[in-house]
Amino acid sequence: MDSTIRQVSRSACVVIGPEGATNFAIIKARDGSAALIDADIRRIDEVEEALQLTECAKVSYLIDTHEHFDHTSANFYFAQRAVPIVASAGCVQAMRDDGAADFTRMLKPVPELYERFPGLRLTLPDVVFDKTTEVKLPGVTLHLQYRAENGHSHSKGDTTIYFEEEEVFIAGDLLYTEVHPVTFFGNIPNWLTALKPLFETHYKLLVPGHGPTVDSEESGKAYFKKMHDYLEDFHGGLEEIKSGRKSEAEVAEHMQSGAYATLGKSRMVQRNINQFLTGRWI
Ligand SMILES: [Zn+2]
Repeated sequence: MDSTIRQVSRSACVVIGPEGATNFAIIKARDGSAALIDADIRRIDEVEEALQLTECAKVSYLIDTHEHFDHTSANFYFAQRAVPIVASAGCVQAMRDDGAADFTRMLKPVPELYERFPGLRLTLPDVVFDKTTEVKLPGVTLHLQYRAENGHSHSKGDTTIYFEEEEVFIAGDLLYTEVHPVTFFGNIPNWLTALKPLFETHYKLLVPGHGPTVDSEESGKAYFKKMHDYLEDFHGGLEEIKSGRKSEAEVAEHMQSGAYATLGKSRMVQRNINQFLTGRWI
């Protein structure tokens, strides 16, 4: 399946990953330059195609919403083109600590990328902020806010981006819509806390890290609440497995039934459970 490129406001478009794969956003400024939000080296052709379709003359900034490979692995590609890369200090620290091992592991199935991009390696962001910052281009003001509660929610770098002029809110992986989230890198209690203020955030259009975009603040609020309730439910399930009150199979089944029955990427349920229980990759 191919990704979809969706124009979500006059100057913002989103590459929506197929079947819940990562979303990337492009915000085009008045002078034809662009801010690109997240990019995966495995899908660089999709990103380049979207930049061409939107007639962006150049990428002025790449912004990483958080440290995970599917959001940061094209840093190398854009750094080679002298594009400044913006991220939170939490994101940069996490990449410093665990990024190299993660990078090697994720590229194992696609070794040809090392040939296509000689020297391909983990590349750290070079414009680093602590809590909040603004990225400005002609006609574009982006408000970046670090939201990893106590330094760790979905990830250690979680940053949201608000495009002021057109009221577009980019939530990164704090929000998944219509697909099971990847939770096993996260701290679920902190993630629950980080979601609370997002219930009250203002926007006209909401972009999750994975899954379809959301067209109003009202339905966005419902999606943030769904995300919260899913995580709370899953966390409770893990506690029940640990205490022996429920089996892994029962929790896995519960997370795929009722309100969750229609969510995509259901293979994530078992991976999330295994990873939390064993701390091992499967
Ligand atoms: Zn992530």
